[in-house]
Amino acid sequence: MFKAILIEQGPGGDAAAVRELDDARLPDGDVTVRVEYSTVNYKDALAITGKAPVVRHFPMVPGIDFAGTVESSTHPDIAAGEKVLLNGWGVGEMHWGGLAQRARVKGDWLIPLPPTMTARQAMAIGTAGYTAMLAVMALERHGVTPASGEILVTGAAGGVGSVAVALLAQRGYRVAAMTGRLEEAEFLTRLGAAEVLDRAMYARAPKPLAKERWAGAVDVVGSHTLANVCAASRYGGVVAACGLAGGMDFASTVAPFILRGVTLAGIDSVYRPRADRLHAWERLARELPVATLDLITTDIGLAEAIAVAPRILAGAVRGRVVVDTNR
Ligand code: NDP
Repeated sequence: MFKAILIEQGPGGDAAAVRELDDARLPDGDVTVRVEYSTVNYKDALAITGKAPVVRHFPMVPGIDFAGTVESSTHPDIAAGEKVLLNGWGVGEMHWGGLAQRARVKGDWLIPLPPTMTARQAMAIGTAGYTAMLAVMALERHGVTPASGEILVTGAAGGVGSVAVALLAQRGYRVAAMTGRLEEAEFLTRLGAAEVLDRAMYARAPKPLAKERWAGAVDVVGSHTLANVCAASRYGGVVAACGLAGGMDFASTVAPFILRGVTLAGIDSVYRPRADRLHAWERLARELPVATLDLITTDIGLAEAIAVAPRILAGAVRGRVVVDTNR
């Protein structure tokens, strides 16, 4: 038996609760993992609250991330006792996920836990932090360096945003952090932000072009914010679009792209090829100081993940939430 959050469909809508489940209910897969830590990402919050159709079939164990120890495996490259982690691949959406004490998945979805990292640290990073690293890698791939100019991070006090601020500042970029929570200015400055901006600045539909400012940007908000970021990008600027916390719409013009050569780089973490994942996690292990992770992390137990979900969607949670599945 193992404990898990289970989302079930009832007459009153979806409902999530902690349940004691029989191992026989675990889905198909060639590797069974004893999950030690998971996390609550924005997408998990959507699944748990039922606010968006993230869950494709019911009942579903949510949790797009987990880290733990392999209990049994018939995968040729994975042995019992190995420390592993998983991000995405539809886990927690189409396949039972990580907000549980046990998970059974395809071994090909797992990557080894970086040797210098604990399972808890990996989940403090989670999909949000791994996505922040993919966004940084996209800026670099398109030629953005600290000498290129200022970088903007939107939704900066959230999970993707806070890790992006820390990673970029650590690499020597001048980072402006945009937030709706100006009371978190000190937190953002401690992460390395050189300046904190009020998100109200980009809340309205922009003109096709604005004064050139950003050499690069990591945007988790979408909607008018993303359109404003593009309009205010410098000649040759690069915008990594990761999220939709402010809306899925994107009403822009082609002006930033055809008159300033701005690049809009889309970031997907879920189906990212394995080589990129290994590279991103190797860099996260090397570049993200443990003190930074501690600064951005709140620890909770499995049952508390249900209560925290609506707070994440309300933008009321700072940084990252780690779930100890045995607590
Ligand atoms: P969080 O909830 O931790 O952070 C989101 C932040 O966005 C909030 O903290 C808030 O920042 C800001 N925000 C929230 N609502 C609004 C709003 N209405 N208008 C403007 N800003 C808002 O989520 P994550 O950082 O984990 O994820 C952020 C986004 O990235 C989500 O949309 C998520 O789905 C997406 N994502 C995409 C991935 C991919 O593969 N492409 C992977 C991971 C996440 P502040 O308080 O500082 O203003």
